[in-house]
Amino acid sequence: MKFVFADSLDYVDPNFDFIADRSPAERQPYWDDSYPHEILGYAPYDGVLVSRGIIGDHRVKGKYTASQARRFELVGARKFLRLDKPAFAHLDIFGDCGAFSYVSEERPPYSAVEMVEFYEDCGFTHGCSVDHIIFDFDSAGSGVDGGSADARNRFDITLENADAFRREAEQIDASFTPLGVVQGWSPGSMAEAARRLVAMGYDYLAIGGMVPLKSPEIKLCLDAIRDAVPWSTKLHILGFAKADDIDSFHGFDIASFDTTSPLIRAFKDAKQNYYLPGEGLALHYFTAIRVPQAIENPKLQRSVKKGVFRAEDLLRMEAAALGSLRAYDRGEAELEETLHNVLVYSALLVEEKSFDDCGGSPAMAKLAARYRRTLAERPWKRCGCAICVSASVDVIIFRGSNRNKRRGIHNLAIYKSHIERLDLKRAINRPTELPRRLCAAEQ
Ligand SMILES: [Zn+2]
Repeated sequence: MKFVFADSLDYVDPNFDFIADRSPAERQPYWDDSYPHEILGYAPYDGVLVSRGIIGDHRVKGKYTASQARRFELVGARKFLRLDKPAFAHLDIFGDCGAFSYVSEERPPYSAVEMVEFYEDCGFTHGCSVDHIIFDFDSAGSGVDGGSADARNRFDITLENADAFRREAEQIDASFTPLGVVQGWSPGSMAEAARRLVAMGYDYLAIGGMVPLKSPEIKLCLDAIRDAVPWSTKLHILGFAKADDIDSFHGFDIASFDTTSPLIRAFKDAKQNYYLPGEGLALHYFTAIRVPQAIENPKLQRSVKKGVFRAEDLLRMEAAALGSLRAYDRGEAELEETLHNVLVYSALLVEEKSFDDCGGSPAMAKLAARYRRTLAERPWKRCGCAICVSASVDVIIFRGSNRNKRRGIHNLAIYKSHIERLDLKRAINRPTELPRRLCAAEQ
């Protein structure tokens, strides 16, 4: 099972100075920065997915600058992502349209012909057909019953595009593998879309619209799809947000999935920000310690403007929190003293009150318990990845993109070895024969 990382320019500055809290003045973004596979010294994924919508253009506002977008098209995906070294030659480069970026449009802004050309010219190894997201989801819907007029329209657009996409790829003898995208409003309609894609000639399907669904709903869809297509049809899950549940999906014979989840959770999750391998085949999570920049944090600045706190007091508390975390890391400060200094600064964020007035509140007590565990277990000392070794305690400090993304990249490394351990377990316990079920396409 291939773990594909959905990139959106997730690089860090290898020369970032944690003590001065800044990059060198001469740093050139992108050129002087490191992708995860550069800073770790190996690729913590089996492939990278780039969405057309993330690159952007005059129609869709992406994340790339205009000159980055031009360079991507000029030098191709592999060179742009700096995956053009022999050590990374085995990595796949998936492309999709990034259907979320045009979800409110009546039709996708890209044509099938244009996307085939884009994937081919930019050297993608795999390219997804042009889909249109369907938001309705009815887990009980059977066959192609139900579905709003809008959902049915998007279903038709997605399938028409897939047909044109495949014909065009065949016509130009494309060097990438085309994937037909499944969109539907129910397990039954997704199964029907999958059946039609197989009939068009696709042997690799990408299942879209999974991002908002919970694991049991995703499984209902996979069940229905697996029943409708041959076992030889490969399945990819697009935007698999439930990546940590991956072990419970192994019965569906998923060939690949893409996600940003391990990276994003480093700074978007309330509690589970830092991964380590846990007991058996589980993942272990730790809460990162928030010490935001006093002069940049909007909430803290609002409090200063309202006169609740003085700016110099904020800076003093921020410095005390950072200073004691570093001293604790060196073995020069006690846990309780460090925790206290962190909580004094946290109170301003959590309760917008001074610690003396809210230190015992339920929210502060919960936070204290999570931070105490992180400090007591010192998880960053237990990881040998290049990031944890060089950043040490800064990897667990929730503050600014250089620390937060480093923690996210560390999570990618832990997640990659988690997937490898699961695959190893499956290889050992592999049933002698794959389930043989007659499916619609084989009958
Ligand atoms: Zn690490």
